[in-house]
This record gives sequence, structure tokens and C-alpha cells, in this order.
Amino acid sequence: MNRAIKLKVKSSHSKKIQAGFPLLNENAIEQFPIGITEGTIINLFDEKNRFLGKGYYGKQNKGRGWVLSRNQQEVINQSFFEKKIRMAIDNRKFLFKDEDTNAFRIFNGEGDGIGGLTIDYFAGYYLVTWYSEGIYHFKDAIIQALINVANVKGIYEKKRFAVKGTYMDDDDFVTGERATFPLIVKENGIHFAVYLNDGAMVGIFLDQRNVRKAIRDKYAKGKNVLNTFSYTGAFSVAAALGGASKTTSVDLANRSKSKTIEQFNVNGIDYEAQDILVEDVFNYFKYAVRKHLLFDMVVLDPPSFSRSKKHTFSAGKDYPALLEQAIQITADNGIIVASTNCSTFNMQKFKDFIEKAFSVTGGKYKILEEYSLPEDFKVMKEFNEGNYLKVAIIQKLS
Ligand code: SAH
Repeated sequence: MNRAIKLKVKSSHSKKIQAGFPLLNENAIEQFPIGITEGTIINLFDEKNRFLGKGYYGKQNKGRGWVLSRNQQEVINQSFFEKKIRMAIDNRKFLFKDEDTNAFRIFNGEGDGIGGLTIDYFAGYYLVTWYSEGIYHFKDAIIQALINVANVKGIYEKKRFAVKGTYMDDDDFVTGERATFPLIVKENGIHFAVYLNDGAMVGIFLDQRNVRKAIRDKYAKGKNVLNTFSYTGAFSVAAALGGASKTTSVDLANRSKSKTIEQFNVNGIDYEAQDILVEDVFNYFKYAVRKHLLFDMVVLDPPSFSRSKKHTFSAGKDYPALLEQAIQITADNGIIVASTNCSTFNMQKFKDFIEKAFSVTGGKYKILEEYSLPEDFKVMKEFNEGNYLKVAIIQKLS
């Protein structure tokens, strides 16, 4: 498994890698050796033949591999993976101890020292996500390492390395005990039904834990809440548990309705008292503006890019327009929870978008709080791209 090759990094990229950047970009190397295979161990050197780092070759979007160690003698084997996973688990002790939470991330790619690999924890079960065939090449050692250092009931996996990093359909069970689905997990006392063996997404995005808690504990009481791009309705559930007078969830995926009903059910909330709409958000906004609907809270959490029959949405371009629509149907002193997972712009740019939208609609606003990834989604300061989540809790002023 440890066939190693030497790669010379272009001078334009070596400084960055030297300074800690963990990703080997496709254009960092003049020419990759012909026939280089996924999972090959690579030793990176600069043009003066100085060692930069050791890692693996794996295609992931524009990346061609990740640096795993700055020590040339390091052997990339099961005990290396054990060391990394043990450290990562130690880092999440506070979450393992939390009686109200048993769903969180225990290994976050390069933030925990291995780009292209994430591991999530769901009530005793582990979900390993492989982002390239290169990291998948180390599957046996990584799975054994996880079994050795964690208290594992069962392991599931997602392979995200087919065409363009999308999900490859497969039986997702790896080893141990099979879970029965839905698996009911807890997050700050909120229940969520998750499915580890049913498609690319499991039913809950773990990176929004702190935002859901804030909505429930600080913002929802007595509010009429609109949750757009609602998926399984996790924000609606948090709002309802926080005492919202009513929630309206809007998502165009057909399955979102039954999934949202299920999330309300597992929390003992009467879903019939809530609105759950399968509809294009952009159509819904038009309808809401025409009907002069006003909400006390509007949640915006669009995908970075989406294409529906009539609309294409790209966060980097269209977020200000999306906000303008939300502002029009938010009551004075109401709250807009604006979220994006788009990694091509940072919080400052996101705030510029907010400023731009309010300057068009002509109202005042105040950003009450900002959220980024929670502690378990560990990030590297040398790799901003990994720090993708931006959430602003905005109050529309009268
Ligand atoms: N806010 C959700 C996650 C959103 S994922 C949560 O916290 O769990 C993005 C969702 O947007 C997907 O469910 C997708 O079906 C939906 N979506 C994408 N484009 C849409 C559109 N134009 N109108 C409505 N929903 C859309």
C-alpha cells in the first residue's frame, strides 16, 4: 500500500504548502506521472529539492491530493490513522459527555489532519464519508483504526467520489451491527430521525447545531416562522420547540414533506398545526408578496447552487436578490436567519450582500449574531476554504 512517489511542486505553489496549506491543487505540479493511481503515497518537494510534506494522491474537485504529514519519516498506515482518529475523538469529549446530544462530527477532514475524510457519530453508529477514490484506497486501515479507538456499534459509509464528487449509490453498511432506521438521535434535546443507508443525505445537517439551538432558545417564541429550502424541516422543528406560533416549511423536493412530518412526529409536535409546502421557494416568495404575507422570522438556507424548472440560483451571485425578497415579507423588528454553505465567499462578502439587499429595499437592519462552523467541524487556519458556513441573524428594524 505504501508505494511512494516523489513530486516536485511548482515554485508558485510551494510557499503556500510550506506555510501549511494542506491541499495539492491540480496545477501545483507541472505534470503528474502518467498512470499515477488513486491512493499513491506522494512526497512533495520544492524546486530546490526541499521536503514539503507527505500525503496521498486523490482527485477531489480541483484537488489532486492532501498533505497528511510534515515528517518525511512518517508511515501512513493503520497506526497513523489511529493516532489521528484518537486525537479527534479526544477533542470531542465534551460532546460525548453531553447527555442531550448524540449526533455530531468526530472527524472533519483536513481540520483533523486527513483531507478527504469525514466521520460523523449518530447514537453509537459511525458514518464515514470518502471524498476521493484515493482516500477510499485506505478503507481497511481506516475502518480498523476507527474500531480500535472508538466504541463502535456499527459503521456506515458514503462514497462521494463518482462523477464530480457526487454520491455513488451503494449499500452503505460496512461492519458491526446494522442499525434500525429511522435511527432517532438527539441534539440539544431535539430529536431527529436519520437514515444512514438511504441516499447521499441522512436527514440532518450537523453543522447547524448551534443555529438550531439559538432559534429554539432565543428567537422563536411566539413567532410566525417561514423556513425556506427547508429539507427535512430541522429549523422548523427547532422553532416549534422554542414556542413558535406557527411554522411554514417550503422545499421543492417531494420527499421533504413526509420527512418533515416525521421530524415533527419524533418531537411530539402536531404537524397538522404547521404548514409544509412542496414548492419552489421563488414561486412562494412571489405568492407571499402578492398576498402581503408577513412573517416574524424567515430562515434562508439555500444550497450554493440549484436549478429548478424556472430558476437557477447561485449563492455567489443571487444571494442579495434572495434576501431582498425575504426582507419584503419580514415584519418590522422581525428576524431573518441568513445562512450559506458557499465556500467561494467569506463572511465579509456575505455582510456586503446583506448591506446591498437592504440598500435596495431601503430599510434599516442590525446583525444580532453571527455563526460559523461549530467546534466539532474543526477547521485549519491555513485553509479558509474549509470554513464554509456563514450564518447571520439579522433584525429588520422599523
Ligand atoms: N435548511 C435545511 C437544509 C437545506 S438543503 C436544513 O437545515 O436541514 C437545500 C434544500 O433546498 C434541499 O432540500 C433542496 O430540495 C431545496 N431546494 C433547492 N432549490 C430549491 C428551490 N428553488 N425551491 C425550494 N427548495 C429548493
